[in-house]
Amino acid sequence: MKFRLFEGGGGMAYKRVLLKITGEALKGESHIFDRKRLDFLADEIKSIHGQVQLAIVIGGGNIVRGSYLTENFGTDSATADHIGMMATIQNALMLQDFLDREGLQTRVMTSIEVNKVAEPYIIRRALRHLEKGRVVVLAGGTGNSGVTTDTAAVLRASDIGADVVMKGTKVDGVYASDPMRNPDAKRYPKISYNEFLKRGLGGILDRSAVAQAEMKKMPIFIFKVFEQGNLLKAINGEAAGTLIS
Ligand code: UDP
Repeated sequence: MKFRLFEGGGGMAYKRVLLKITGEALKGESHIFDRKRLDFLADEIKSIHGQVQLAIVIGGGNIVRGSYLTENFGTDSATADHIGMMATIQNALMLQDFLDREGLQTRVMTSIEVNKVAEPYIIRRALRHLEKGRVVVLAGGTGNSGVTTDTAAVLRASDIGADVVMKGTKVDGVYASDPMRNPDAKRYPKISYNEFLKRGLGGILDRSAVAQAEMKKMPIFIFKVFEQGNLLKAINGEAAGTLIS
């Protein structure tokens, strides 16, 4: 295992990483899950196994988000968020199954207790799993309604003393304007929490998660996860992306 710590430039690397994967990353065209994407993610995660201690916070957007239920069904917001949090547990179990098949020791821990299917989230126990080289998949978000799994990622990263939150997305970082619409859009290689919030750059990352990250002094690296080898590059500080710190 490498135990180089975060340096904030080329050649940086990490000891303990919290990877945030949005639920959308598991989604297929006609189903909540896509086999190729799950295989791909499991392969990528396997490629970094043993190089860092890895915890994963998984979202639920491929199944349902609370806000969608409230807007379209008039669902009470706490109930809607409970449904959203349960979705993240389904994703965690699915990801665990794919990681198991890669031969990785994986534990799912949840903020909302579902004792028959996963362990409750207990910081010390999560740390013990990480120290033993197990991949820890953290589901159920924070367990509280009104926030997203981006915030859960920051809070959990802080709990377990991760060096960084890595958010794997479809794009390779934060841009000054939408790179899909404006091909000349400039990517920020690095941006402060304050600048991110001041410039109104939401979309790619929940703004309240950035505010939490600032309070916890937790750096967030945004990179493209669906490019082969990029997760490995990211943990070695070699991937293109945006560092919010
Ligand atoms: N959620 C919540 N509290 C949390 C995390 C998530 O209430 O701490 C709910 C919320 O309704 C959210 C849903 O779970 O919409 C799924 O999470 P998220 O939208 O973050 O998933 P992602 O966009 O990452 O797939």
